[in-house]
Amino acid sequence: MYIISSKNMLLKAQHQGYAVPAFNIHNLETMQVVVETAAEMRSPLILAGTPGTYSYAGTGNVVAIARDLAKHWDHPLALHLDHHEDLPDITRKVQAGIRSVMIDGSHHAFEENVELVKSVVELSHRYDASVEAELGRLGGVEDDLVVDAKDALYTNPQQAREFVSRTGIDSLAVAIGTAHGLYAAEPKLDFDRLAAIRECVDVPLVLHGASGLPEGDIRRAISLGVCKVNVATELKIAFSDALKQYFIEQPGANDPRHYMQPAKEAMKEVVRKVIHVCGCEGQL
Ligand SMILES: [Zn+2]
Repeated sequence: MYIISSKNMLLKAQHQGYAVPAFNIHNLETMQVVVETAAEMRSPLILAGTPGTYSYAGTGNVVAIARDLAKHWDHPLALHLDHHEDLPDITRKVQAGIRSVMIDGSHHAFEENVELVKSVVELSHRYDASVEAELGRLGGVEDDLVVDAKDALYTNPQQAREFVSRTGIDSLAVAIGTAHGLYAAEPKLDFDRLAAIRECVDVPLVLHGASGLPEGDIRRAISLGVCKVNVATELKIAFSDALKQYFIEQPGANDPRHYMQPAKEAMKEVVRKVIHVCGCEGQL
């Protein structure tokens, strides 16, 4: 089994006080970089794709590449559904071999969110796939998901307790002041709230929107119970900036085997840095 659930991975992280990074990938090159770097650092790994990523690259292709890379590096990994919202879509992807699911019902009212998440847990656990859900609402932009700052909602710790016990989820994504995309101003995270959530629920906690957060904030969040750290935007920027620079310097370049290299190397640096901040090196 090379494509595994993220359940035990996150429980081990919770137990030992580090976090597992979830890197958003989009294509062959980004998947190669992430798996290779995690393998070199012996780090547990979650490869994440939004619905847009799976439709862009093709679910079958993503699963096949992830499995082959994991096998090549002898590095079992979790392939994760990031911000999925639709039960039939999730069902198809779990049946295609994916064993780690995020159901994002955070735009629904509480009771509807509970019902939707319960149905996803029921389906996923039959396949031994783990389920993450979100309570509260992150602001910012991720693919087609756009949440205005005024609609962002922080997670309520008491409600989180009820949410976890009624849904049976394996991990909880919390809203404590992070946002998707880039930060216009330095974010102020609500660490007291995070500590209160940790008191109320026992499942691993997930931090979305870690791109551009100060390293000290990420480490502090991990010390307060965050076991999964999501990084997307920072990888895309490193990759595309290096690619653009290459074409500026070599406008005649046309061989992807050459022009992708500096982009991959730039992204690798970010992956290495995140693994370091998460404290998960050597924990595979
Ligand atoms: Zn997210």
